Amino acid sequence: MIPVFDGHNDILLRLLREPDRREEIWLTGEGKGHLDLPRMKAGGFAGGFFAVYIPSPMPHDAPDFEAMMDRPPYDLPLPDPVPLLAAQPVAAAMIGHLMWMERSSGGAFRICRTVAELRDCLSRGIVSGILHMEGAEAIGEDLDALHVWHEAGLRSLGPVWSRPTVFGHGVPFRFPSSPDTGAGLTEAGKRLVRECNALGIMIDLSHLNEAGFDDVARLSDAPLVATHSNAHAVTPSARNLTDRQLDAIRDSGGMVGLNFATVFLREDGRQAADTGWDPILRHLDHLIGRLGEDHVGFGSDFDGATVPQDIGDVTGLPRLLGRLAEHGYDEPLLRKIAHENWFGLLDRTWHAPRA
Ligand code: ZN
Repeated sequence: MIPVFDGHNDILLRLLREPDRREEIWLTGEGKGHLDLPRMKAGGFAGGFFAVYIPSPMPHDAPDFEAMMDRPPYDLPLPDPVPLLAAQPVAAAMIGHLMWMERSSGGAFRICRTVAELRDCLSRGIVSGILHMEGAEAIGEDLDALHVWHEAGLRSLGPVWSRPTVFGHGVPFRFPSSPDTGAGLTEAGKRLVRECNALGIMIDLSHLNEAGFDDVARLSDAPLVATHSNAHAVTPSARNLTDRQLDAIRDSGGMVGLNFATVFLREDGRQAADTGWDPILRHLDHLIGRLGEDHVGFGSDFDGATVPQDIGDVTGLPRLLGRLAEHGYDEPLLRKIAHENWFGLLDRTWHAPRA
């Protein structure tokens, strides 16, 4: 079984919502959601990026987003920005849950801050976790909190989830749509990019709009990364990357993680679990054709999206790799996609903080 290192999951959101049940959710596992420690071991899940995402309050008269995504075309309204003082305690709680996951695991799970630590975990069969923030709501324009979160282990940051922040603007959940949906980074957003470069924090472009993407491409001295996005040429969702964006990622030595969410996989943009393997193969073929074999991996979106029922949950990863082998991907390529490319990318991105 080839171990899989993954670009994105939302298990911390489940712990945030049901903190009293975190033992069942994480340690013992109860077969719900996509991830828990026992199923990670069973599925050959070597580790991944664990997202701190601040949920928006849901007004009681909000439209039924799930039903809208079942019937494209759709254009989901974005929630309001989350204020700094509302976001910070939530972020601290989620990081606390990640630290508890490590503490409670009896050595089976470790938060990693360097590639050497990731490789050590891989060689010893320990599940590794990278602390990632999906949206920078818990950081103010002065950027002081960024240094606090970095000390706490933060090694990857998306300036926005889809709703706007003081740093920039994300793409809405809209199908079909170009990712060119608004203004680029704010001045604070540009300072955030430079500070992440100085600290060696990876910048994630997955939810950013096209103008923001171009700003990061111009400013950043690090490879360009989209942890969980697919090919716009196959599925014209606002969340997917155009060929021009893929070329910029390739030229920077960057990386794209294939998102398993059916809304970003299917050509018709539908949210539907009865989605076969074909859309996955089409996206991977396109991404590899455009980026080359060394710049594509997985970014499952486990616990954050509806995924094809043939994958089902994290225990479906060996089935996925088996299907890719049948499709003609040889073992060296499978190893690259499964984990080697992510480790190579982080080797090129992470470094000790600069003054
Ligand atoms: Zn996301």
